[in-house]
Amino acid sequence: MNYFQMSREELAAEKNKLQMEYDSLCRRELSLDLSRGKPSKKQIDIVMPMMNCLESVEDCFSENGFDCRNYGILDGIPEAKRLFSELFGIPMKNIIVAGNSSLNLMYDAVARAMLYGVVGSERPWGKEVKVKFICPVPGYDRHFAVTESLGVEMINVKMTPTGPDMDEVERLVASDASIKGMWCNPKYSNPDGFTYSDETVERLASMKTAAPDFRIFWDNAYAIHELYEDRADVLADIFKLCDKYGTSDRVFYFASTSKISFPGAGVAMMAASDDNLVQIKKIMTVQTIGHDKVNQIRHVKYFKNAANVMDHMMVLAEVLRPKFDIVDRVLTNELGGTGVAHWNKPNGGYFVSLYTEKGCAKRTYELCADAGVTLTKVGATYPYGIDPDDSNIRIAPSFPTESDLEAAMKVLTVSVKLAAAEKLLANA
Ligand code: PLP
Repeated sequence: MNYFQMSREELAAEKNKLQMEYDSLCRRELSLDLSRGKPSKKQIDIVMPMMNCLESVEDCFSENGFDCRNYGILDGIPEAKRLFSELFGIPMKNIIVAGNSSLNLMYDAVARAMLYGVVGSERPWGKEVKVKFICPVPGYDRHFAVTESLGVEMINVKMTPTGPDMDEVERLVASDASIKGMWCNPKYSNPDGFTYSDETVERLASMKTAAPDFRIFWDNAYAIHELYEDRADVLADIFKLCDKYGTSDRVFYFASTSKISFPGAGVAMMAASDDNLVQIKKIMTVQTIGHDKVNQIRHVKYFKNAANVMDHMMVLAEVLRPKFDIVDRVLTNELGGTGVAHWNKPNGGYFVSLYTEKGCAKRTYELCADAGVTLTKVGATYPYGIDPDDSNIRIAPSFPTESDLEAAMKVLTVSVKLAAAEKLLANA
């Protein structure tokens, strides 16, 4: 029953019932974790044969005759560029294949801009009085950590099912030249699982920015991470749209195989316009003589082509889908019709975003922690760790076993209801 339609007495009775249920869950002395957005061992094990892909010395030579075991090839071996090019529809010449972490590439891209500026900058961003970034919220905590750590001021803009509120984004970037950048996680966004609409991508490509050196940090981390074969979201090609509007220097594009092969030993890539890449490589060449090309060639020998990668994603989806189904089923059964929570049912990615009654997320987190269930810290999905509504909880279903997930979701949903009942009774 909807909590908002209950009388005070009904609500008090409901709270007592929930408290008893909660106390009995606490007695189970659980120790469960819903906070880690990482692949399970089962997913990673599937890729183990990759470790045997390089059997001979010849296997270590790339198609241009280069010995991958040696120094060199700053921007990655051609066959690794081709694989990413086929997967994401980006020309090989605009791709750099690097080490294992796209987050590392993103950090470096912001740090480089602070130290040297980007193509079109009058001076390094770090020499400006103030540098600001637009941060669609809720979003990825580590994006916000990068900009916070490098002294960038962050401006919240609300996410919607079609992407960030574009009226607000356009208004902000047109009026404030200190806004130099924007974080975007455009497909199956962390944590909402939303994919930017064609209109949103076109507006991002075409919008007028007061800063001549404005950059979109396009983190396409979940580009091919579908959960269903017949229900994939489709993301417009931002580079094509930027070409149409003459803004091709605007985008820094990032992705990796962290959630395709190995999170700790995958391959990351960055893509950008010709002019951007000239500047980036000039600075990168001071940082390193080359990334781990043995890992790059191992990935290409294992996957061979984009079609095989897509087939592999469906194998991973078989492992992930039942977990997302558990989350949705428990949320629907336990919270459906109560009016005190809503959530998303994404077609891909790694997260489900749960919104509690405003002002109840921290209390829900506390109740879960006391019952032995760790959630992603409330506020982590917002810049500076502050969720102004105290409402968003990021559920990461991939890592726990199905039975642990089921138990943790039960604790979570009882806690959401108990926190809401406490608040409504206090306000009644
Ligand atoms: N970007 C997003 C949106 C993520 O959710 C994650 C990991 O959870 C990453 C990037 C990390 O990427 P990588 O492993 O390539 O550093």
